[in-house]
Amino acid sequence: MIADISQAPCAASPKRWSCTLPEHISPSAAKSYLGCSLKFYFERVACIRKNTPVALHVGKAVHAALQVFHLARWRAGDDSPGAVAAAYEKSFTDLETDEGPVNYDDEAEREKARVDGLRVVAAYLDSPEAMKGKPRAVEVLLKENIPGLSVPLTGAMDLVEGNFTPVDFKSAAAKPDPGNAAFDHEIQLVSYQLLMEIATGQVPPSLDLVFLVKTKTPQVIRVSSPPANEHRKRRVIALLETAVQGIARACYHPQPAMQCSWCQYKNECMAWLPARQLERRAA
Ligand code: SF4
Repeated sequence: MIADISQAPCAASPKRWSCTLPEHISPSAAKSYLGCSLKFYFERVACIRKNTPVALHVGKAVHAALQVFHLARWRAGDDSPGAVAAAYEKSFTDLETDEGPVNYDDEAEREKARVDGLRVVAAYLDSPEAMKGKPRAVEVLLKENIPGLSVPLTGAMDLVEGNFTPVDFKSAAAKPDPGNAAFDHEIQLVSYQLLMEIATGQVPPSLDLVFLVKTKTPQVIRVSSPPANEHRKRRVIALLETAVQGIARACYHPQPAMQCSWCQYKNECMAWLPARQLERRAA
């Protein structure tokens, strides 16, 4: 039996995850697993639901609004600020219903979050980074076999520009450090390059992140990094394969680090013992 781990958390039933190769691997699943395998287990295997963090909720609504804008550019549809703002408002409300409660303290926090996201969307549309021409592709999902990886690689690119540059949008609370940003997102950026090269035969001229920064005056900052050489590709394929093999062996354990400060699974983590995991695997 094989497991699907690249879809939204809990798209697969827990039984499908035990001691099998996953059907495929996505950069986000690999990054999640490598960041903390036990948190990955709680989110994607045990499917323990938590309230959505406010920043994640706003980021998803902003992402949906930008998607509407880019699709309108692609299809020569309505890409006006009003249409994009309406898409943001709809997504902000729909996500609250579709993905469960958001971790607001009160209505005032909800309203502030809503307005902050709207201001970020407006800042993007006003910025030089807003797509001017027709994109090559929007929200493109690719799935390819990659030499050295034992399952297919999948990836969903937010935007592919006319010159084959993949662009991923990130909501951020603070201005990014360009060197760290490219390193932090290496698995995702290089995975996109690997997928693009196999799907189109083209080497992207750069791998780009566009940060939408929710500062008092919102900022839109593009971080471009050069395409990966063979060394970087091999390194990322090895990281992806490490995640695949760890998932296949059901290897889940705490990895205490800075991320624990904002982890929602501390109670479950504190209850973890290796023996309990072995029991679960034997069941
Ligand atoms: S508290 Fe830390 S170690 Fe425990 S599951 Fe969360 S991120 Fe992992």
